Parts: sequence; C-alpha cells; structure tokens
Amino acid sequence: MKKISSFISKKKERYLLNGISIRGRNEMCLNKTLISLKPNSSESMSICKDLRNNHNCSHFLNLLKKKDSIDNPILLSPELFNKPIDADDLINLCKEKKICPYFLSKFLLPEMKIIICNYQWILNPYIRKSFLKFIGKELHECIIVVDECHNIVDLATEINSLKISPYSLRLCLRDLELYRAPSIMHNFAKILLNHLLKKKKKLNDIELSISPEKLLNNIYLALGHTDLNEFKNFINDLYDFSVAIHEEKTANGLISRDYIGILAEFWLIWIKTVSSDKYFFCYSIIERNEKKSINLEIVALDPREITLPLLKYSYSILHLSGTINPYVYHNLIGLNQSGKSYKGIIAESPFKRENVKALIIDGVDTRKKNRNPSMFKKIIQKINEVLYCTPANIGIFCASYGILKALINNGIEQIVLNNNKKLFVENSGLTAQENSLLIEDFKSLADPPNNGAVLLGVSGGRNSEGEDYPGNYMNAVIITGFPYHLPTPRIEAKIHYYDKVFHNQGWDFAYLYPAVQRANQASGRPIRKLDDKGAIIFMDCRFIQKVKWISNWIKNRLEVIPDKPDVIKQKLYPFWNIDK
Ligand code: SF4
Repeated sequence: MKKISSFISKKKERYLLNGISIRGRNEMCLNKTLISLKPNSSESMSICKDLRNNHNCSHFLNLLKKKDSIDNPILLSPELFNKPIDADDLINLCKEKKICPYFLSKFLLPEMKIIICNYQWILNPYIRKSFLKFIGKELHECIIVVDECHNIVDLATEINSLKISPYSLRLCLRDLELYRAPSIMHNFAKILLNHLLKKKKKLNDIELSISPEKLLNNIYLALGHTDLNEFKNFINDLYDFSVAIHEEKTANGLISRDYIGILAEFWLIWIKTVSSDKYFFCYSIIERNEKKSINLEIVALDPREITLPLLKYSYSILHLSGTINPYVYHNLIGLNQSGKSYKGIIAESPFKRENVKALIIDGVDTRKKNRNPSMFKKIIQKINEVLYCTPANIGIFCASYGILKALINNGIEQIVLNNNKKLFVENSGLTAQENSLLIEDFKSLADPPNNGAVLLGVSGGRNSEGEDYPGNYMNAVIITGFPYHLPTPRIEAKIHYYDKVFHNQGWDFAYLYPAVQRANQASGRPIRKLDDKGAIIFMDCRFIQKVKWISNWIKNRLEVIPDKPDVIKQKLYPFWNIDK
C-alpha cells in the first residue's frame, strides 16, 4: 500500500490512496484500569463502555475535546492520515497526544479507502455490525481480501462456540450473593458448579461427549421446573437480572465483567441448538502446569453458519493462501452455496526452483504402534544428517508433544550439541512473552560466529504457524510425524457431521485436511522472502501416500529419500554447496 500510495503521489494524480491497519481494543487501549484487568475482547468492550459512561477515561475525554477528531479526524495529522498508516504509528501518535487510539482509528475508518483488520471484525456478526456502522458502509459495498484464508475455517466455528467453567461459575455466585439474587439463581449456579467439579474428578480422558437433551432435563428438574419452557423463562429472568446489576454497577462507577450475562447466554444458546446436528456438546479437560481444569462446551461444527452470509452479501471476496486445498476450502466455507460465481487460480510459485529442497523420508513412521525407542533413534539419526549439512538454524516441528518428549528422551540434545548448535524447546506452558523471548534467543544464534540453533516444537503450534523465519533464522524445517489431531469425540462428531453434509468426505475434510494443513504451514516457515533458500524435510513415510495434499509449490519439488544411511546428506551437501 505504501508503495502504491507513493507511486500515485509521485505521478501527481489527484486520487489519494490512504488506508489504516487497526487492531482490537485490547491491543490499542491506553487506559491503565482496562489494561490491568486483562479482559477478553467481549469483556473489554463492556469495561470500556463503563469507563466512558462514567467519564473515567481521560484518553477518551481528550479525544472528544479535540472536536476536529470527530468531524474530520484527518486534520489531527494530515501528513500521517493521507497515506497508509499502521497501528503502531497511530498508537505512538496517540501516546504523544494522550488520546484514545482505538476510537481515533474508528473515527478515521469512514475516511479510509483500505482497512486492514483482524478476521473477527468482519467474520463475527456482532463485531461486523458495529464495524460497518462505523465505516458507514453496507456489506454489499465492501470488497473483502482474506489473507491466509485457511484460518477462517476454524475461526468461523470458534465464533459460534461457547464454554463455561467452575471459575466463571464461582464469579457468578459471588455477584449473585452481592446483589441478593433470588435463591433459585444461586441454586442454578451451585448445581452447575458441583456437577462440573464431580465430573472433573471422574474424567480420565481429555473430552467426554454429552447428550445435550439429557443434561438440560436433569438441570431443569433439579431446579424444580416441570418443563423446558419454565426453564427458558428462568434463563431469561437471569439475563434480565444480569443487565440490571450491570447497570447498577455502572451507576456506582464500578468496572466489572458480566459473568451472569455470559452464563444466561450460554444456556439460551444451549436451548436453541440442543437438537441441531450442527453442534456438539462436551466436557473438556485442560491440563496446564500440572493443574487440571474443566469446561462445559457448546462446539459449533459447521463454518458455513458464519461464512455464508459474508459470501452472499459482500460485493466480492478474494481469498488468498499459500497452503490451501481449494477443493476442501470451497466446500467447507460454502462457496458453492453462496449463489455467486467463483474462480480458483493456482498461481506459479514465486520462489526460485534451485532455492527450495523438499524431501520425504521413507522408512520412518510415527504411528502409535511404531513409537518405540528404536524408531525414535532412527529418526534422530536422520535428523542428524540434516543438522550436519545445514549451515544455520533449523526448526523441528513434531506431530505432538508426545513425539517431542520422545525425541528428547532418546537423545536429540546430544545430537544437536555434536553439531555445534544449541537446542531450544517449545513448551505449551510458556506465556506469549516467554515464548517470544525463546524465539528471539533462537534467532540470535543464526549468523556467524554462531553455528546456528535448533528449535524443537510442534506442528500446529504458535511457532510453526504464526512466526516467520526468513534468511538464516531457519535454513531447514523438519516435519516429524504426520500431524494428525488426537481422535477426540469432538473430531469424531465433526467427521460424522461432515460425512452427512459433504457426501462421505468427513475423514478427509475433518481429519486429514487439518493435519496436512498443519504440515503445510510448518513447511513454509523457512521460505518467507523471494530470495530465501531452504530445505523442507517431511520425516514420515505416510507423506508419500498423501503427497497430493501437500502445497503445490512444495509438491512440484519433492523427492522421496530411501531408507538408507547418508542419502539425506548426499542430497543436502550440493544444495548448501558444502564441501565436507
Ligand atoms: S476509550 Fe479508549 S483508552 Fe479508554 S478504555 Fe476505551 S479503548 Fe481504552
């Protein structure tokens, strides 16, 4: 955008290209109270609203005082706003002027020709409604460009999914007590809390499916209701109560999260979706830092509930991805049901053929029955060949944390040390900040005099998808194992549902495709810029049978390496021009 904009201004065209990249409230807010509460996005919306209503946000008040900022916000800084501006530049300007960057960006939106935003702004129907209101446009007036569009399949189902936990129920109980709610409301929260705590003790698996009708019946009978209607009326009362106490809190200048409202909404959705096959209901267990927690979940299975309205009503959409399978994607998001025509374009790879080496290693297989020390030692030997030939940094992304641990237990650290490199191990318990420090350290060893480092992580994790490693930051990537998800009840429900709606293609769409997508994402990490050079190693023979699913730009270069010692070295020496 910056290049196009300066091209236009050099040509002295009267047309001006401006644009803005915006972020969510949590990332832009400068109010210390809101930041200290660390709310999620829907909570921060209501906290911000309370702060503004109570005149407790000086940044917002300062913004309103600058009348121009509402009538013509461009005037606040024409040199900045008449060309493309990114969120960091906007935040810096606002810090200087002590004004709210989030609302300034919103005031600027109607003036901007191009807006770059998170998927939520346009996918989430509630957020989209207020976003479109702010930009003063209808959906049919918008051209939408969805970059990395493979992400929207999961995101669309997440938007329609909900959960409650003992933590949120305890906070509900605290508010119900504080605001003297009728005893039946206390009973309701207590029944749910006790139920979840009992389940947590009994559950050995990470997930257990629920009959939603049965649980609903048990709950309303335990409350003394005779039928579903009575329960529904009660939930509506609970919702009204949450609105009333929220208003009271706001009037008293209190800032809080609305746990009672969230609980009421959860049950209204449960009642609405109870007999729909597009939803799956379960208990799920999460273990973090050796602590177990339980959730009660409503899981949406069909992304089209969210994507179809967008496809139908927007002017047009351009979907872009370097890793997508167009056939699966167009089915999953409902392109063929949108009532519009569409065209698939497979573009030529922009990367030079001689700069990418792609290998599938035969003779290794991480299927459960093969997971034994001799298989892991063999894998480590083959990894050793890659390490030996690779000048700088290497990423090893495993199919699961189980495989990652097995590599550690079978001596990968020694192999890394023998190659004069340092090992960095990704850990699911790391905070975002701790993880970014880990990645910073890993990258810092990429160039001489250092001999490079090895990052051991998982496919589908934050370091194998969200992070870029151009240049020497990652010379080679090894996808260790075929990254199938654990076949949990939620995955099985999805396969079953997809079988029904996508002509028996449930296994391919719900199980195989996400696994290959994780491998495709991880495999692209070393090749980020046009002149990047990188080796991509698929360390599992199952990739040979599934080769048609691998991204086109890699597939065309793939070679299968037989299960013999030193063949990997023979392929990689000439690639890196090493004379060893
Ligand atoms: S008005 Fe702006 S600075 Fe104030 S709380 Fe809301 S987002 Fe934060």
